[in-house]
Amino acid sequence: MKFFGIPVRFDVSALLLIYILALNGFSIASAETPAVRVVSALLLPATLIFSILFHERAHILAASRYGIGCRGITLLLFGGFATLESMGKRPREMFVIAIAGPLSSLLLAGIGLALSLAGQVFFGNALPPLVSNLLSIFTFLNMMLALFNILPVYPLDGGRMLHSALWDRCKDMEIARRQSIKVARIVIVVLFGLLLIGVVAGKVSVFSFVWFVLLAALLWQIQNRELKM
Ligand SMILES: [Zn+2]
Repeated sequence: MKFFGIPVRFDVSALLLIYILALNGFSIASAETPAVRVVSALLLPATLIFSILFHERAHILAASRYGIGCRGITLLLFGGFATLESMGKRPREMFVIAIAGPLSSLLLAGIGLALSLAGQVFFGNALPPLVSNLLSIFTFLNMMLALFNILPVYPLDGGRMLHSALWDRCKDMEIARRQSIKVARIVIVVLFGLLLIGVVAGKVSVFSFVWFVLLAALLWQIQNRELKM
């Protein structure tokens, strides 16, 4: 599959994400006819996949401005990532490539919100619940994609933005990388603690917690690999 000319690869774990979203899509339309529920089950994963691909495509577009190519986008349980030939040859390039993703997600969230409001104004109650639900979910998913990615957790976008800022200040890319990984690990430990308290207090689902732990383990592993380079 290609998305605006970029090859897209589905990791097996992406199937689990699609399955979970399809189940959610089916259940949010519980008051509807079976046909509408099936449409909802198909549209919900499609909405997230489109949002992730759009986000990654923005990183790729920014990188191409600096002559940096891309080998493709991979989708997995935790979202997606673009395999770029370089994350930027200068701090400014790294910053622009990193921030392009969250900005594109904010743009989609804004479009989703504007369409929701327009739907309310022009159609009111005549707007099918499936459409209004999907627009709300589309807005929410993109808002979450933007917010989640700007966390200063290397190698997420926010972590790369921090890396570029530190690189610009100390003029050494490797020292800056080590510093940004230290910050990332503090943030991961704090989030782990907060989520654990949330689970004990019944405010956070066990599923969200397990998802976070798996993601944190993956990020930690990538950080280890980059520390050894
Ligand atoms: Zn991103």
